[in-house]
Amino acid sequence: MMGWLGLDDTDSLEAGCTTYSFHLLLESLPRTVTINTPRLVRLWPFAHQRTRGNAAVAVELETDDEPLLLEHLDQYWKQHLMPLKGSVSTSEHDERKQYPADPGMVWFSNAQVDSSFYVKAVQSEVRLTEVPSADRSWGGQGRIGATAAIAWHGKKNTWEAIAWRKPNRHGQNKRLVCQETLARVDDMPSTFLSRDPRKGTGMVAPRGPCPVLFGLRARDEIAARNAAEILLSAESTESSVGLRTFSTNQASDDHLGEPFQGTVADVEVLNRGHCVLTTEHGKWLAFTESGPVKKLAQWLKPGDVILGNGLSPEFGILHLEKLCVVSTVPEYQRPLCNDCNVRMKSMGSGQGCRCPKCKQRIDDVWISIPRHPPFESWVQPPADARRHLARPLEW
Ligand SMILES: [Zn+2]
Repeated sequence: MMGWLGLDDTDSLEAGCTTYSFHLLLESLPRTVTINTPRLVRLWPFAHQRTRGNAAVAVELETDDEPLLLEHLDQYWKQHLMPLKGSVSTSEHDERKQYPADPGMVWFSNAQVDSSFYVKAVQSEVRLTEVPSADRSWGGQGRIGATAAIAWHGKKNTWEAIAWRKPNRHGQNKRLVCQETLARVDDMPSTFLSRDPRKGTGMVAPRGPCPVLFGLRARDEIAARNAAEILLSAESTESSVGLRTFSTNQASDDHLGEPFQGTVADVEVLNRGHCVLTTEHGKWLAFTESGPVKKLAQWLKPGDVILGNGLSPEFGILHLEKLCVVSTVPEYQRPLCNDCNVRMKSMGSGQGCRCPKCKQRIDDVWISIPRHPPFESWVQPPADARRHLARPLEW
């Protein structure tokens, strides 16, 4: 028989720990169990009690002895996973409230979970009471992500090969990953986001203390694994205790719905450079870190028509992840003086215009000048400021 095993929330703020817990769990399975391709599924980024990267994991298992497997899972849960409940990990780059881990594990034998549950869990907040019931389940909040990872339809997948470092290196913020080899791996056609294209810095290694050494992303499975093996075999990369290639929903844009079209009513630039666009759909926020999105937002004027996409953490607020100009209103200026080529100035309401140089007067007229946006098509934040779920525009 075949069934699906899902796991989530074995650590509060380092998503990597859930992948490591899962790796150890898979290593422990009885030999009679065949392990198919594991998956790493990112979920609703604003989830109330999310883990740091909000990623859950799942795998399809094959076995002729389900009772033995379930007995093993029971034991493993009690010994290794249940004790993680309540742990709070540290993170120096996250100011959000930290929720203690509340691990959850689910087992679905044969029965499939409808993919609509995944869609719901990647696009909105889901409560524990809404989770389809499994054939066997363990733990608490983590059952939401664990079930959603099983429910994922697997469309538009990419791959991530994750290597974990030796236990004595866990807790260290620094990781030894050969940067020259990483540059070579980054040049391979299938890999993506291995290095920041602007800064040339590595993007495969997390910064915190979690067990992950690196996660190497690629658009196909073989390439992800090959690239990870090349990186691991480099002399100046620290040794690892395991490597697994996950099918993921990263770079799928599954968290986004259809874009909204709106007309700009107001553009407000806040002190740190964040830009707030008021449209008939509410406030659209372009954060400073969003680079070209912020630049384009700041350029807009009331009357411009735009398309925007992003997440809505609350009603009437959209955090822009993609922005595109549909049409712009012209800019109105006074005409140039025919003789001096200097812009004429208004003499006051109904008083006509006058050339500041030769003092020549004309009627009170405006000329319209078309405005050309700094970007002709969709823009998105730079690679290092994008969500794992964000699909690169160039795809
Ligand atoms: Zn003049």
